[in-house]
This record gives sequence, C-alpha cells and structure tokens, in this order.
Amino acid sequence: MKELNRWLSWWYKDITDTKYSEDYWRVRLIYHSLLSSCCVFLLLMLINVFVFSEIAIALIDGAGAIVSLGVYVFFRRTESIKLTAWFLSITVTFAMLLFLFYVDGLAYSLVWATIIPPFTYFLLGRAGGTVLSVITFIACIYLVRMQYESALPLIITKGALFNVIEAAFVQVLLFRFYEGTRHKAFLQLKAEHKESKRRSETDYLTGAFNRGKFFSLVTELLAKNSANEHCLVILDIDDFKCVNDKFGHDVGDSVLKMFTQTLKTQIRDKDILARWGGEEFVLLLTNVSSYDAQRRIEAILELLTLNNGSYGPISFSAGITPCQRGVPLGHLIKYADTALYRAKNSGKGRVIIYSGDREFATQAI
Ligand code: GH3
Ligand code: MG
Ligand code: MG
Repeated sequence: MKELNRWLSWWYKDITDTKYSEDYWRVRLIYHSLLSSCCVFLLLMLINVFVFSEIAIALIDGAGAIVSLGVYVFFRRTESIKLTAWFLSITVTFAMLLFLFYVDGLAYSLVWATIIPPFTYFLLGRAGGTVLSVITFIACIYLVRMQYESALPLIITKGALFNVIEAAFVQVLLFRFYEGTRHKAFLQLKAEHKESKRRSETDYLTGAFNRGKFFSLVTELLAKNSANEHCLVILDIDDFKCVNDKFGHDVGDSVLKMFTQTLKTQIRDKDILARWGGEEFVLLLTNVSSYDAQRRIEAILELLTLNNGSYGPISFSAGITPCQRGVPLGHLIKYADTALYRAKNSGKGRVIIYSGDREFATQAI
C-alpha cells in the first residue's frame, strides 16, 4: 500500500502553488483521467489479445494507452493546464462520438454521452464545457432520430447492460469528485473566513480585541444597559517608553503581551478587553459599581507592581467611568480619558473615577 501511495504521489506531481489555486483540482482531474485511461487501455489490450484474440482492436487499445502516456509526459514537461485540458476534453469527446456512431447509438450506448458535461465543464469551464456538451448531445439527438426513422425494434443485449453499468460507475466517480472539490473549497473558504474575521477583530501583537470590535461589542451591550450596571476603564502603562529605551522594543512587546495576559486572567468572561492603541487598553467591566471596578483595577495594579520580571515592576494609570444610561459611548470614552489624564497628572500608578460630574481619587500604590 505504501509503495502504491509513493508511486501515486509521483504520478500526481503538483504544479500549482497552493491547494487554494483554482487550477489545483483541474490538475488533479487531468492526472486522474490520464491514469485511468492508461490503465483501462492496457487492460482492454490484454483482454483483447488473450481472451478474444482480437489483435486489431488490441492495437487500437495499445495506441490509446500510448496517446494517454504521451499527453501525460507533455503535461508534466510543459505544465500547460489549459492546453492539456483542451486536448483531453476534445480527445474524450471525439472518442465518445466515434464510439456512439460506430454502434449507431444502440444498446444504451447514449448513456455514455452524459459523462461529457461533468468532465468538460470541470476542465474547461462554462464556455468550453457548453460547446463540447452541446456537440455531443446534438449527435445523440441525431442518432435517436435515425433510430426512430429506421423503425427497427430495439434489442437489449448484454452490451446494453454493461453500457449502463459502466457509464453509471464513471458518472458516480465524476460527481463524487465534483462534490469532493466543492466541499473542500467550502471548508477552505470557511476556515479562511474564520481566520480573517479573527484577524480583523483582534490586535496582532497581544491577541486582545481591537478598537473596532470593542466598539461593536460595547455598543450592543450598552443598548441593553437598563440599570447603569457597567463601567468603562481606560488603562495606560506608565513610562512605557522607558521600558523600550532601557530593554529594547522586543522586551517592550513582551511587556504588552504579559500585561494583556494579566488583564485577561483578572477579568471575568463577560468583561470586554481591547487594545486601544500603543500601550493603552480599554476595558468594559460588566455588572459592577464604579467603586467595585476601582477596587478590582487597583488589585491588578498591585499585582503588576509586585511583578519581578527582568524589566522590573510595571505600573499603569487608569480612568473609570460608570456607563450611565443613555450616554453615548463616545462621551463615556471621553469621561474615562479625562479620569486617566487626571490619574497621570496626579502622579501616575493610580485609578480615578470620573462620571462627568463626580470624581473619586485613590492614592498611588
Ligand atoms: P506615560 O506614563 O505618560 O504614559 O508615558 P509613556 O512613556 O508610557 O507614554 P508615551 O506616549 O510617551 O510613549 C508610549 C510608548 O509606547 C512609545 C511607543 O514607542 C511605545 N509603543 C507603542 N506601541 C508599541 C508596541 O506595539 N510595542 C512596543 N514595544 N512599544 C510600543
Ligand atoms: Mg503610557
Ligand atoms: Mg499612552
């Protein structure tokens, strides 16, 4: 089995850049078709030589196998997907028409014509697929008209049974392939969409929400805020520039990540944290009075002050405002920013509440 897989992976040389390329599955179908036609022609050749002793037909089968191999070599060398797809589609359609006319469309051979649309549409797209499918079906209509005019009684042979079984088998394989590609493309798009949504909502460095996501989440939450029960907090790391200057930008980045992680572990699931920009963060604490919010932020401040990382303790200043009913988010941010500004101006490392009219300060920790 391993040998077979290794051999198959050699046969299916990937010539597209990624699985996301539109041509990826087209190339797979070209490889599938060429592999199956080589195998089928060789098998038919052996059967015609050893079972039926039909050397002439066996030679035609041999020629089919050589042509398939030739197209395969051409494809691997030139990597021309478009040319090979056209060549393969025209060859298959032409061989199909030859076969149908050879048997006068009798013995349910016309069922074979139904494999042309899935095959050619997949390889050539809508224009090419339509041209070859319409040609094939016009030939079918012509053949049925001839049968109708000849008014001969239809005799159902064993060949008819095989035609239906074989064509149905090929149809199932083709549609299985078709559906597989559609399903995989859907899963890829879904995963990509999820990832790009995540990227558009979060800050690359810290993994916290970004400003846009914070706005949409908080606006939604405040619309339901019937009892003034939330608090908005803006936090700004103190003298962060010194961390960068002393230890370098990379250490500065690590501090921002550590800061985010600490905040995340100290808040509750329903609270919303976002990076406002630079070393500033914004937090919506849910179902909490401004006094309790202040105590909780001070506890975080204390925790960070005790930090013994290589860059020493980290301190921040914070401004809190209670989310009063009916006050727009823009105003709440201004209030929290005013509180932060006051915290900075009164010595940093402290948390101040400002609700637009009242103010409560704490001592620096
Ligand atoms: P203050 O206590 O007044 O807030 O002083 P500060 O030094 O913290 O504030 P200031 O605004 O003077 O400097 C902020 C610094 O934050 C400057 C900037 O280079 C740095 N900074 C902003 N974003 C990043 C980042 O993503 N990574 C790193 N390492 N530094 C950043
Ligand atoms: Mg700062
Ligand atoms: Mg700042």
